[in-house]
Amino acid sequence: MNVAIIGGGITGLFCAHYLMREGHEVSVIERRSTGSVTSIYNAGLLTPSLAPTPKIGLGRILSTYLGRDDPVHISPRQILGNPRFFRTALKKGLTGYEDKIVRMGHESLELYKEFFREVGSRPDLIEGVAAVYAEERDAKMAQASLGGELLDEASISRMGFRGFRGGVMFEEEWSVNPAKLYKSLWDAVVTHGSAHLLVGDDIRLAAEKGGSQRALVYVDGKEIHCDIVLVTAGSWTRELCRSLGFDPQILPARGLAIVFDTGGEEIVTTPALLEDYGVGLAQHNKTTLRITGFFEMVGFRTDFSEARRKWLLDKFYRHVVKSDKAKIVEEGVGFRPCTPDQMPLIGLVPGYKNAYIAKNAYIASGNCRLGVTLAPATARLLVSMLNRTEQSQDHEHSSQSSWYDPNRFVFRSRRR
Ligand SMILES: Cc1cc2nc3c(=O)[nH]c(=O)nc-3n(C[C@H](O)[C@H](O)[C@H](O)COP(=O)(O)OP(=O)(O)OC[C@H]3O[C@@H](n4cnc5c(N)ncnc54)[C@H](O)[C@@H]3O)c2cc1C
Repeated sequence: MNVAIIGGGITGLFCAHYLMREGHEVSVIERRSTGSVTSIYNAGLLTPSLAPTPKIGLGRILSTYLGRDDPVHISPRQILGNPRFFRTALKKGLTGYEDKIVRMGHESLELYKEFFREVGSRPDLIEGVAAVYAEERDAKMAQASLGGELLDEASISRMGFRGFRGGVMFEEEWSVNPAKLYKSLWDAVVTHGSAHLLVGDDIRLAAEKGGSQRALVYVDGKEIHCDIVLVTAGSWTRELCRSLGFDPQILPARGLAIVFDTGGEEIVTTPALLEDYGVGLAQHNKTTLRITGFFEMVGFRTDFSEARRKWLLDKFYRHVVKSDKAKIVEEGVGFRPCTPDQMPLIGLVPGYKNAYIAKNAYIASGNCRLGVTLAPATARLLVSMLNRTEQSQDHEHSSQSSWYDPNRFVFRSRRR
């Protein structure tokens, strides 16, 4: 098969990697203007056990209007501009698939092990991640629902933190340096791999004329013909899919990553989630430490106010004992691709099979807070769907009615 992958973030590149390994011809199409920031400016925590997600509840939305100091922020403009997204997000009984995400995350860790063996490097991989809390009772509640080993205040302070009375240690979860992970994947797929890279400003999807059942992608007007087009454009997936008459209901939830140089000093020994604030923190190696925070639904804005930056830095200076040794060297904003239930969309683009175009547009996006953790398993699932399709020529397959069904937010009357 000849597959055009639109979006070279971590999801698209893992799809490319597995497709190429099975002998398919792959083109990776990237848009010049967005840059692949999200797959680099994230926390790099591979933590399936910590998958259960804070929902977009009414309290969160109200805090926006009340101006509460909260790492989650949803702008009124986003709410008014996307009523269907927020109506769906607030529906009762929408979720309940956390166990499936946890399982998929563990499957990903096995696939990561295999990938690191294949490329012969582990991008600053550290085994063991702690979730830490100001109050011991919160740690006990978390341990009762998520498992892991309870940590006391003394053991958390030996890791380099202060101000946390309790925590939970997850020995089987990992931290990686996301910039190094992304580079090793890029090298495997593009630099040393056989993928064709195409970069453009104006990317459009269309159909080959004459009923050939093939898809056509225009990259700055240049025609790319393919058997399958796969949209893995993260938070930008929505604008691409809309040209196919499908609204996947994906909105960006932005976050900020700040990278420090520790001057060769080990400041913290264990990657951690500071759960009271939703802040991730990891020292990747002798010199590089990263903190990340915020879940803001404010569109694609990249400007963080000085007050918000200070909020994040304050958590670092307040809770990391040797924080004075660290100097900021880099900052970046990432956009988590979020669906109303924060579960992914993996499968055939709904309606596309019957549309005037052809039976060949797929989507893999919407992994939101867990996009790095879930990327390899998402890609394997998608590639196994494509293989089945190739063998049976049948596009009516297993993604339909599953928890990752791209069709699940489409109004019933519009389903085909
Ligand atoms: C602050 C922060 C912390 C996070 N921490 C973690 C964590 O600890 N663990 C975890 O698992 N996840 C984490 N995430 C989530 C994770 O980073 C994302 O879910 C993941 O990177 C999404 O990957 P993606 O490949 O789907 O999308 P992206 O990385 O956004 O890639 C999409 C690609 O598509 C390209 N593109 C866009 N439009 C077009 C177009 N029209 N044509 C062609 N290409 C296009 C973009 O340039 C980009 O390269 C975090 C995110 C943030 C912001």
